[in-house]
Amino acid sequence: MTDIKSMNLEQMTAFFKQLGEPAFRAKQVFCWLHKGARSFDEMTNLSKSLRQTLTRECFIDVPVVERKQVSALDGTIKYLWRLPDGNCIETVLMRYKHGNTVCISCQVGCRMGCAFCASTLGGKVRDLRPSEMLDQVLFTQLDSGEPISNIVLMGIGEPLDNFDTVLRFLELVNSPDGLNIGMRHISLSTCGLADKIDKLAQYKLQLTLSVSLHAPDDETRSKIMPVNRSVGVERLMKACHDYFAVTGRRVSFEYAMIDGVNDSDAQADLLARHVRGMSAHVNLIPLNHVEESPLKPSRRVKEFQRRLEEQGITVTVRRRLGSDIDASCGQLRRKAMQDKQ
Ligand code: SAH
Repeated sequence: MTDIKSMNLEQMTAFFKQLGEPAFRAKQVFCWLHKGARSFDEMTNLSKSLRQTLTRECFIDVPVVERKQVSALDGTIKYLWRLPDGNCIETVLMRYKHGNTVCISCQVGCRMGCAFCASTLGGKVRDLRPSEMLDQVLFTQLDSGEPISNIVLMGIGEPLDNFDTVLRFLELVNSPDGLNIGMRHISLSTCGLADKIDKLAQYKLQLTLSVSLHAPDDETRSKIMPVNRSVGVERLMKACHDYFAVTGRRVSFEYAMIDGVNDSDAQADLLARHVRGMSAHVNLIPLNHVEESPLKPSRRVKEFQRRLEEQGITVTVRRRLGSDIDASCGQLRRKAMQDKQ
C-alpha cells in the first residue's frame, strides 16, 4: 500500500500516469489530501472506479485526538494524537499577535538523550513519515478552527535525525496547491548535528534555523547534551557560521537556563564570543522542570540577558505559554504512557 499523502505533486503526477490517468487528477487528489480528506470517497470530482482503484492501492491515515488540553491562561492548545499503530505524538497550537503557530513533532520519542528533556526519556520508537508531520498541521487547523500561519519544528524528536522526511514535509506545507506556508514562517530546531546543518545549508531554504546550544563550553554541554561528545562546540559553531554565510539567514540559538549549570557570567561571555559576527539571535528559555530530572530553573535569567546585551548580542527571553497544561513537549505523551502502565 502506498502512503499517497507523503508524495509531492511530481510523484503523484507520475503515479497517476502509471494508472493511465491525466495529470490534472494528481492535482485534484493533492488538493483534497491537503484539505484533510479522510478517504477517497470524499473526493467527489473523481470517478467511482478511480476512487476504488485508489482505495485498493493507497492508504490515507488520519490521527485521532487522544487528549486535548486548552490553557485557561492564554488559549494554547495541546494535542496528543494517536497514530494508527498506537503510538502517540504531541502538537501545540500557540496564539500570538502575529498569527497562530503550531509546534510539531518529527519522531515518536527521541534518541538524543538531552538531560533536561522529557521527549527523550523513553528513547526513539520510530521516525514519523512526511504525511504524519503534515497531518499535525492539517488536523490541528481543522480541529481548532484556527488558521495556522507559522510552523516550528520544536516538538518531539530531532528534525535533522529524520532529514529526508523533514525536507519532504517542508516541500509539502510550502506547496501552493497545499497549505502554502512560506519558508520564512517556518523554524527548524536542532540539537546541533553539524554535518546535517552543513547539508541543510546547501538547500538554501529561507526558514529559520534554531540551534539548541544550552552551553557554550564542551564540559558543560557534553554533560547535558550527549550529542556534544561527538560533535563539540567548536565544530557546531563552525557549521552555524557557515550556514549563515551560505544562506544569509541569521541563526537563532536556544539556551535553556539551568540553575548553577550554564548561567554564569563566564558562560555568558563565552556565548557572546561564539555568536559574534553572524548576526545571531539568542533566545533564553526559562527551564521547564521535568519531574524525572534534578535540574532546576536558573535564577539569573535577567543578569545573563543583560551581560549578553552589553556585548551587543540580540537577546529575547521566551514567554511561557500554556504553563498550566504541560505545554512543553514530551510531557503529555509521557504522562499518557505512564497512565497506561
Ligand atoms: N530536537 C530539537 C527540537 C526539539 S526540542 C532540538 O533539540 O532543538 C525543542 C526545544 O526545547 C529545544 O531547544 C530543547 O532543547 C528545548 N527543551 C527541551 N526540554 C526543555 C525543558 N525542560 N526546558 C526548556 N527547554 C527545553
